[in-house]
Amino acid sequence: MNQHDSDTGRRRGGPTLPETSAKAPGPDFIRSIIIADREADKNRGRVHTRFPPEPNGYLHIGHAKSIVLNFGIAEEFGGKCNLRFDDTNPAKEEVEYVESIMADVRWLGYDWEDRLFYASDYFDRLYEFAEELVRGGRAYVDSLSPEEVREHRGTLTEPGRDSPYRNRPIEENLELLRRMRAGEFGEGEHVLRARIDMSSPNINLRDPAIYRIKHAPHHRTGEAWCIYPMYDYAHPLSDALEGITHSICTLEFENNRPLYDWFLDNVEAGCHPQQIEFARLNLSYTVLSKRKLLTLVTKGHVRGWDDPRMPTISGLRRRGYTPEAIRAFCERVGVAKVNSTVDIALLEYFVREDLNQRAPRVMGVLRPLKLVIENYPEGQQEELEAVNNPEDPSAGTRLVPFSRVLYIEQEDFREDPPKKWFRLSPGREVRLKHAYYVTCTSVLRDPANGEILELRCSYDPETRGGWSEDGRKVLGTLHWVSAAHALEAEVRLYDRLFDRENPSEDPEGRDFTEFLNPGSLEVLAGCRVEPSLAGAPAGRGYQFLRHGYFCVDPDSEEGRLVFNRTVTLKDSWARIEKSEAR
Ligand code: ATP
Ligand code: MG
Repeated sequence: MNQHDSDTGRRRGGPTLPETSAKAPGPDFIRSIIIADREADKNRGRVHTRFPPEPNGYLHIGHAKSIVLNFGIAEEFGGKCNLRFDDTNPAKEEVEYVESIMADVRWLGYDWEDRLFYASDYFDRLYEFAEELVRGGRAYVDSLSPEEVREHRGTLTEPGRDSPYRNRPIEENLELLRRMRAGEFGEGEHVLRARIDMSSPNINLRDPAIYRIKHAPHHRTGEAWCIYPMYDYAHPLSDALEGITHSICTLEFENNRPLYDWFLDNVEAGCHPQQIEFARLNLSYTVLSKRKLLTLVTKGHVRGWDDPRMPTISGLRRRGYTPEAIRAFCERVGVAKVNSTVDIALLEYFVREDLNQRAPRVMGVLRPLKLVIENYPEGQQEELEAVNNPEDPSAGTRLVPFSRVLYIEQEDFREDPPKKWFRLSPGREVRLKHAYYVTCTSVLRDPANGEILELRCSYDPETRGGWSEDGRKVLGTLHWVSAAHALEAEVRLYDRLFDRENPSEDPEGRDFTEFLNPGSLEVLAGCRVEPSLAGAPAGRGYQFLRHGYFCVDPDSEEGRLVFNRTVTLKDSWARIEKSEAR
């Protein structure tokens, strides 16, 4: 085994990226638009973007793409980016979500400074714009039932039909709108609609709703309103009120752009932001929809929004992903005009790349097997120097205690090894990392069930540090801990949450929860880690030699360490395993 490979997590031959990640050189299409706008002195060269989450769930890696894009563009062009909560729907929104979203954006490394806004801050202004539309004959109160409104809408191939209320006099519309606002009607009795074109080939333009009656308190405005603006109406006007120049959104809003523009063209909003659409991020083996993620949480398929298997920012953070890795991933994925699915392995690649640079190396034994060194004096112990990070000499070294009784990994011993077995077996000599050469002399079994209880070994005192003066070679290097000094730990190993690449699209129409991977979490109790990990704070990341990257879970308590495996060392390890098994 090539120890260097497992130490660094690097694949032999250097890293290669999945083909899907090839990024075209030069600015992407959004940046090209902005560069051209600046050259034409549009908006006097100003660049102002926004990230507009709806506070109805936790942010996920798809949102990270939008955050990196919006804040990144503002940074690059000397502009600004606002954080705006798009909180126009009182029913599904909660303060918990608002707080988690702010924490996640900050954690990703972005700062909205004093530009934290809520669409609900604009409810008065939005209402005034609505009266303005009514006064101009551009909006009317419709009294058809929701059912009838649907029937009048037409289809993709048939035009819609005008509502009998479409030509109400302006004064009557104004009065009804005010009474709607005053709470005189029940939900669904009336709706305020834009008066555009019921025969438009774009269904979004067939007199879309602007305000609906909803007798529900709002998490910020309380009982002040019983009519709430629709997203398609509130969004362009909120953008304009904030002086946004480039309103970047995902592709599914492409057909809403004419409506976005229509609202801005028909009220005095002071400026006209430009909507630009890009393809949303899809990841293999994952779902990225707040509705589906909420289902996973409420149905108990995961432990919460921050379960380390979740693609939420809080889940990835708990898993040990770093903001740097997520940002690098988002930048590499780039923006496109066509929807596609990115291989989750690419995200993992960036996580490894980042952790390889900075995660201290430690030794942890996941499935311990006792090893007794018979020629090592009882009661003796010593401290051996170990390099903290071969990728980063400034990380220094630490001392690791060594003694007569150790634990090694169960899978590092085979009594009856296959050909090309480089680890321990009877009569075989291996190196204990940072320590000594040891040779297995005998195996102690439980007479009752034949299980291996412990290995008996001898060591060569001349090989301190793991090197032999006489040039004698050993093929295997094992990690280990000293039994008396090691700390007990629980380790949680994760696999993909879904066992198929695209759980959301089943040709047979089965629900995505049918494709949950039953083996996505494996909990190992009784693991042993080196004592330097005592008191490691939640969130701290390490490389456990040969096992991958791990981080301390917040479930850890005084005297009880819990680790999440962030990501394996993967390719290097999988290939080595394979060649050894041959
Ligand atoms: P979801 O589909 O998960 O519910 P959403 O679009 O409804 O997401 P919002 O809170 O409205 O969630 O999203 C805030 C911003 O993040 C929007 O500008 C949206 O376009 C963007 N966004 C959401 N999901 C993705 C994604 N998968 N890839 C890129 N951007 C996304
Ligand atoms: Mg949305």
